[in-house]
Amino acid sequence: MRKHEMGRDRRQFLKTGVACLAGATFFPPVLQEEPSPKSQETKKERKIVTRTLGKTGLRLPVVSMGVMNSDNPNLVKAALDAGIVLLDTAHGYQRGRNEEMIGGIIKDYPRDSYVIATKVPGEPTDRKTGLFTEEAKAEPFLEKFEISLKRLGLEYVDILYLHSVVRREATLYEPYMTAMENLKKEGKVRFIGVSTHRNEPEVIQAAIDSKVYDVVLTAYNFKQPHVEEMKKAIAQAAKAGLGIVAMKTQAGVYWDRERQHQINMKAALKWALQDENVHTTIPGFTTFDQMELDLTVMEDLSLTPQEKKDLQLGMKTGMNGLYCHQCETCLSQCPEIFDIPAFMRSYMYAYGYKNLAAAKESLECMDMSEIPCELCDTCSVRCPAGFHVRQRILDIARIQNVPEDLLV
Ligand code: SF4
Ligand code: SF4
Repeated sequence: MRKHEMGRDRRQFLKTGVACLAGATFFPPVLQEEPSPKSQETKKERKIVTRTLGKTGLRLPVVSMGVMNSDNPNLVKAALDAGIVLLDTAHGYQRGRNEEMIGGIIKDYPRDSYVIATKVPGEPTDRKTGLFTEEAKAEPFLEKFEISLKRLGLEYVDILYLHSVVRREATLYEPYMTAMENLKKEGKVRFIGVSTHRNEPEVIQAAIDSKVYDVVLTAYNFKQPHVEEMKKAIAQAAKAGLGIVAMKTQAGVYWDRERQHQINMKAALKWALQDENVHTTIPGFTTFDQMELDLTVMEDLSLTPQEKKDLQLGMKTGMNGLYCHQCETCLSQCPEIFDIPAFMRSYMYAYGYKNLAAAKESLECMDMSEIPCELCDTCSVRCPAGFHVRQRILDIARIQNVPEDLLV
């Protein structure tokens, strides 16, 4: 299939609703097309399940691509060619190389045939409270965004998230909300949102209350202990018109650090999509096999009895998995009051995703010169997920000694 034909077919996956038509001043009208039954088929004859991303009106396949763990342009191209439309990246991924890689790929595709989401963090943040400090200003945030645009080679991104928000106050931080709204008015961003993988229900509720955000990107998986609360928050957000994108759906990928027992990734992805309020997901596949597996979910979301059983596997065998619930129960139990959940997330990136660069990056804001656990004989933390917190912290803290050039 020639490039322009491919783009034409892919464009038909996208359509806009009423809300999006209002923004047509800035953005291509092609996204208004209704997909025809014929256009639901790719060259592999896939019947792709699509959902509308809330008030954005974007019609997206239920499986998108989180590009964070991938540095393989051929994999990203294959994903686009197979029917994936939304690519999710971030300003900080691979120190900007992730956005650059995506920019190098999408220049060969029609602008209206893909959807790009990126994320820019607000800084500085008080790591203990999760709140932005007084020094957190709009200007550096906007400068980072402009760098992201350049790396991507775009005049606008489709979705810009305020990255990794953990508190209501941070979600509603006026300088960033205003800056993002202004970017929308200037036509540099189509839709704005927040991303969260900690304290998610509070952040989601704040996003609803803001009446400013269009999309929420949230951690959501079968291992979350507060899953009922999550379902409720997501349902309320969807009812309020927010688009819901689910991440961390595969809960760290492995049940064990030794990577002997893989979570049934297909089942985990289906589990998240059983919730019809989830409009799309961004699994971070890194191989062609994994991609094919995830793509099959685009066609059939129903969980088989075996898949349901597989999701229970870890619970039965006593394996705790690599996914930290980010519940913060540990914070008040540790006399040192340092950011244990950040270490646990880093641990998951290292052992679950094998993404050592991301593991190191996620700890960069920490003062790693002194790891308090080294001086602590007995760990007082009782983690409800069953993690041996001290052991995991000491294990992952070693990453600070790995030279940068070995991580790329
Ligand atoms: S380490 Fe345990 S207690 Fe701490 S945030 Fe993670 S799951 Fe919760
Ligand atoms: S071992 Fe580490 S996490 Fe546990 S109580 Fe001591 S300082 Fe806190």
